[in-house]
Amino acid sequence: MPYDVVVVGAGIVGTAIARELSKYTIKAALVDREPDFGWGATKANSAIVHAGYDDEPQTLKSHLCVRGNALFEELCIELDAPFERNGSLVAALDGEDKRIEELYERGLKNCVPGIRILEKKEVLQREPNLNREVGCALFAPSAGITIPYELAIGLAENAAMNGVDVFLDTKIAGVEEKEEKVSLITENGKRLESRYVVNAAGLYADEISRLFGHDDFSINPRRGEYFLFDRKLTPLVNSTVFPTPTEKGKGILVTKTCENIMLIGPNSKDLSAGEKENTETTEEGLREVFEGAQRLVPGIAKARRYTIKNFAGNRPQSSTKDFIVEQRSRLINAAGMQSPGLTAAPAVAEHVAEMLKYGIEMKRKESFNPVRKRIRRFEEMNYEEKKKAMQENSLYGHMVCRCEHVSEAEVVEAIKRGARTLDGIKFRTRCSMGRCQGGFDLPFVIEILARETGMGVKEILKNSKGSEVIKAHSKELLGRAEDEH
Ligand SMILES: Cc1cc2nc3c(=O)[nH]c(=O)nc-3n(C[C@H](O)[C@H](O)[C@H](O)COP(=O)(O)OP(=O)(O)OC[C@H]3O[C@@H](n4cnc5c(N)ncnc54)[C@H](O)[C@@H]3O)c2cc1C
Repeated sequence: MPYDVVVVGAGIVGTAIARELSKYTIKAALVDREPDFGWGATKANSAIVHAGYDDEPQTLKSHLCVRGNALFEELCIELDAPFERNGSLVAALDGEDKRIEELYERGLKNCVPGIRILEKKEVLQREPNLNREVGCALFAPSAGITIPYELAIGLAENAAMNGVDVFLDTKIAGVEEKEEKVSLITENGKRLESRYVVNAAGLYADEISRLFGHDDFSINPRRGEYFLFDRKLTPLVNSTVFPTPTEKGKGILVTKTCENIMLIGPNSKDLSAGEKENTETTEEGLREVFEGAQRLVPGIAKARRYTIKNFAGNRPQSSTKDFIVEQRSRLINAAGMQSPGLTAAPAVAEHVAEMLKYGIEMKRKESFNPVRKRIRRFEEMNYEEKKKAMQENSLYGHMVCRCEHVSEAEVVEAIKRGARTLDGIKFRTRCSMGRCQGGFDLPFVIEILARETGMGVKEILKNSKGSEVIKAHSKELLGRAEDEH
């Protein structure tokens, strides 16, 4: 029997769609070419749940952003995913007050709740570390922060709990359309048959659309670079602070993450279509990020020694400049998901499900269970809970990651839930995310992953194919063959 719907792409958009479809009595599947969820644009972005004043009124972006924002709270409670409505400020420097009024008007047209313009005094009361030259600021109380890859994992786990089949490490490379169904052909020659296909392939959504014979939009990468700080440094802002936007985007922001860690970025650099995988950071780009953040919050100059990581992500920038959520016979595109695609994802999912209702009989499933729990963190337990956890499972007593306080029990639980790579474990547990960036814990994690899965250590990947972390044993390098382990 063919599937009713196959969703191609397990980023935040694809996983949100899969979870939405799992509420109905249909047969659905979720496919990604990577070994895990959320490894495209979803893993490297600002993680802001935008309020919705940035986008032109009457666009899909503005409509789905405001709706998506409204859905976030309940979604994150159901899925036990991080979310905090910390609010956002767009700060007017250098006499940009007029721009703030324009954004305010746009926000009203887009029906953004609660926005107002704050005078300098109130701005500085809220954010005492802000540049004293600030004029006024647009305050949006509905803006928030989340952890996108954790949410994508939660959505996918909940979709699978409710009957969606998941195929990872499965790249769609070809399509054959027949009257009643579509055959999706994987790069290994396997076939998945489906009545409808949802294209949520992020940077590659144009390529999937072309497989169906449609060549009317392209997706180009627009890179954004970031600095992440050590948790030892208390973030210098409470809300997310933006400069006034330009035609290149919302500008270099200063925010805290849901883990109360300071994050600054992103800049904005257009790359060529052939550079979709180019997420290198550059000296020039990182300087731009630092200078931009310092303009908003001058105290950042003294915080430089607290940076622990820089990284970059590529926005899937569509040639249409708006989201592309449309039906083409048996194909539904959920493409061009540039910012605010993370925010909009729950609303895109609702929209796609409504579109599918015209072609498939979709009844609400009584057995649908919206609740999923994330891995319980030892660090968050109180003394009594820790004691009890260690009595029940001694692996809680082995601290694998000293910076983020992650125990072996959590690493094992991540593997039980499907993590097969070092990043898969990192994104589920925070192991290797702290100051040492894996310097201390990685050998333990490799050993545990090999032990729990039976993989040889040389097979263990950091993330995608070709990212093996151990190339050879030192004795092999010296010319003496050794046992795999
Ligand atoms: C620098 C930056 C900052 C951003 N900041 C924000 C923000 O603060 N707030 C916000 O709302 N949005 C933000 N965004 C936008 C947001 O990150 C994206 O809109 C969102 O992550 C897109 O999700 P997606 O699921 O469409 O794409 P992706 O996350 O890229 O997922 C696509 C998936 O498709 C898979 N795939 C591709 N081709 C194939 C194939 N042939 N077969 C099988 N699988 C395939 C990929 O492996 C990938 O997992 C930002 C983006 C960037 C890059």
